Amino acid sequence: MGNAIAKFGSKKQKEKYLPRLVKGEIICSFGLTEAGAGSDAAGISTKAERAGDLYKISGSKLWISQGMVADLILVFADGFTVGSKLEVMGLRGTGTAELVFKDCRVPASSVLGTEGDGFLIAMAVLDEARIGAAAAAVGIAEAALDASMAYAKNRVLFRKTLSKFESIQFLIADIATKISAARLLTYRAAYLLETGKEFQREAAMAKVFSSETAVWACERAIQIHGGYGVSKLLPLERFLRDAKTLDIVEGASEVQRWILARDLLGL
Ligand SMILES: Cc1cc2nc3c(=O)[nH]c(=O)nc-3n(C[C@H](O)[C@H](O)[C@H](O)COP(=O)(O)OP(=O)(O)OC[C@H]3O[C@@H](n4cnc5c(N)ncnc54)[C@H](O)[C@@H]3O)c2cc1C
Repeated sequence: MGNAIAKFGSKKQKEKYLPRLVKGEIICSFGLTEAGAGSDAAGISTKAERAGDLYKISGSKLWISQGMVADLILVFADGFTVGSKLEVMGLRGTGTAELVFKDCRVPASSVLGTEGDGFLIAMAVLDEARIGAAAAAVGIAEAALDASMAYAKNRVLFRKTLSKFESIQFLIADIATKISAARLLTYRAAYLLETGKEFQREAAMAKVFSSETAVWACERAIQIHGGYGVSKLLPLERFLRDAKTLDIVEGASEVQRWILARDLLGL
């Protein structure tokens, strides 16, 4: 969202919001998904009608991260309500909520970019956000690997540590290898973005591979930890819940594959 303002905002909008966003004084949200339009984002039905110097917004948004606490959701507005907090299995710290707009009036000066460009802006924000999601997935997988190695070195079974069992050693090697691959894909996408090159294909690859690697690594890490793995005494079950949720947000894995296939095959 900060990136969207930096890229598409007017000078006034940048001055008003960016310093406060960077300092963490305000929290922002990105409200695209609706009950009837998730992967099919072009199918949204929330309406914004021009009325003089204002836009009247009607509709509702679902699954909006930071929706419970955001100061800025693309617009500051009177008249919209934060609906119910939505219970999700992972990324629970983000306060996922429904947002309801009933003839919500927003000054026309709050429009980001040019009227009619909203879909393009949303897609551009998502392209970049996928790299962030990939990085988060790499971090979760790495934490699961660190915990697994420490546990395997300490846990004694049949008079030897778990780390001496070949099946565990191979598993640790495979987890570490996949994490390295996920990290490099993520760095590559971030490098391309930072250097102003085409990065969409790499961002989709990084997102799908890193989130699926994180789910797989967390599942294996839980297995290595046995009973402790599935208990709430350790954070591994939370890692798995968060990783699985990353597999859905910012465009689910199937959508990433679809984006990639269309790009690769020139469809
Ligand atoms: C915790 C959390 C936080 C979120 N935060 C935000 C947010 O801040 N802002 C926001 O706007 N949205 C947010 N979302 C919404 C999220 O982006 C959507 O849930 C996601 O894009 C999937 O949309 P959907 O839930 O409508 O599933 P659907 O679009 O109904 O998809 C259902 C299934 O069909 C698959 N599918 C879809 N299209 C295809 C296809 N072409 N081919 C094959 N399979 C396909 C999907 O991959 C998925 O497995 C959040 C969701 C969660 C769970």
